[in-house]
Amino acid sequence: MTKTYNITLIPGDGIGPEVTTAARRIIEATGVSINWDVCEAGAEVFKKGQATGVPQATIDSIMRNKVALKGPLETPIGFGEKSANVTLRKLFEAYGNIRPVREVPGIKTPFQGRNIDFVIVRENLEDLYAGIEHMQTPGVAQCLKIISRKGCEKIVRLAFEVARAEGRKTVHCATKANIMKLSEGLMKRTFEEIAKEYPDIQAEHIIVDNAAHQLVRRPEQFDVIVTTNMNGDILSDLGSGLIGGLGFAPGANIGDDYAIFEAVHGSAPKYAGKNTINPTAVVMSGVMMLRHLGEFEAANAIEQALFVTLDIDGIQTRDTFGNEGAASTSAFADAIIKNLGRKHSTCASRNYQRVKLPKVSKAPDLVKVTARQVNGLDVFLESSVDFNTVGKTLETAVEGTLVCLKMISSRGVKLYPGSNPAVDVIDMLTARFSVRETAYDLTDSDIADIMLRISKNNRWNHIEKLNMFDGKPGYTKAHGED
Ligand code: NAD
Repeated sequence: MTKTYNITLIPGDGIGPEVTTAARRIIEATGVSINWDVCEAGAEVFKKGQATGVPQATIDSIMRNKVALKGPLETPIGFGEKSANVTLRKLFEAYGNIRPVREVPGIKTPFQGRNIDFVIVRENLEDLYAGIEHMQTPGVAQCLKIISRKGCEKIVRLAFEVARAEGRKTVHCATKANIMKLSEGLMKRTFEEIAKEYPDIQAEHIIVDNAAHQLVRRPEQFDVIVTTNMNGDILSDLGSGLIGGLGFAPGANIGDDYAIFEAVHGSAPKYAGKNTINPTAVVMSGVMMLRHLGEFEAANAIEQALFVTLDIDGIQTRDTFGNEGAASTSAFADAIIKNLGRKHSTCASRNYQRVKLPKVSKAPDLVKVTARQVNGLDVFLESSVDFNTVGKTLETAVEGTLVCLKMISSRGVKLYPGSNPAVDVIDMLTARFSVRETAYDLTDSDIADIMLRISKNNRWNHIEKLNMFDGKPGYTKAHGED
């Protein structure tokens, strides 16, 4: 008996309905039986006054079906605050964003013939994209970069599992750990540790700026790249540029229990309703969905029919063909349907297996320590007064307490004590206080007392405890700090 899958289908905004209709028709033509639950999200929902852009009925549908194919959603300016796309990823804890970058036969690019075929596995929920921002002073903004051991472990394991499922040999981890030693460094350290459990896969760390350089110089060297959220966002758009643009970039948002498949591109409102846009990215997102469901034969049939259509038959949409003689979106989909069963002579489909989704403990505290100590305090102050004066005021304020002023820095550069005339100071200063007795563990009431004294003559915005975990500092030094 044929299995019928229940799948949530979100047509989306702008070009979304055109590209998802093409994908749906092609998937149906393979004979895979799908009961599509068509649901709303995006611009129209925002206009109705729902601030999230995602109605409860859509959430319930994905909860039930566990799998969704989604068109792009606009983030209208003036309605709602958050992107409905990000809301969906967060609601369903879709922590892994898988973005394959494979050269498409017949698509002319400067990289044609280089055999580009890699996958970017991007962390999808943490990092600067957690969107936790505060104005520290009227002229200084701050965005928190949150990286957790758990988030790193999940995405790193997923990357190795993707490598195994797709028969790939190497996983590169791209980070900026040389600069952000604690946050990006956590990703690097987790990668190096987890890599030992996958001895069949070669593990390499690469600094992310070099990864961008290498992606343009020798993109064929990459197999799988795992990385943090913002790095992955940028590298994957670079990747789509290598193979012919956003029209060819599919994606999957993967969580423990839910998976949402969508193209990398947006709603391209300029082209909405014109029946000219390239549906390949959503069609290939549908192919990824079929592989997720275990329907490998249907997935390969679509991929091969697409290659034949683009390359052997030379049928392409306007983005790669130009205006004269380009196929419409619907005619392009018709051609792919007609070509189901044909195979490209040189571009075989990979031998895919189902990705074994990693199981990572649900405990919130994956890292346990036996010893901890608060050995100081960073106090972030708003001040436009000369920092030497601020330094003297702070030293007086903490006289007779358990801490002394170690230094004042601005934007991570030490200013006081000493002098550095080259530094252009802003009105946010960081005052670092250290315990006078090295072994003393500052209590909250000590800190409250210190802060009361400091606040008499200073405007402070936030404080950070300087934690020692198992004897190791949980904070970095400023440039120029001893
Ligand atoms: P976009 O991806 O919609 O379009 C940028 C350009 O890329 C288009 O003008 C077009 O030239 C090209 N392009 C995009 N898709 C194409 C396709 N299928 N075929 C051929 N060419 C294609 O980016 P944008 O204009 O910055 O964003 C428009 C809207 O989409 C915004 O509201 C944005 O928030 C939203 N958006 C949504 C998603 C998503 O749903 N995941 C992703 C990105 C942007």
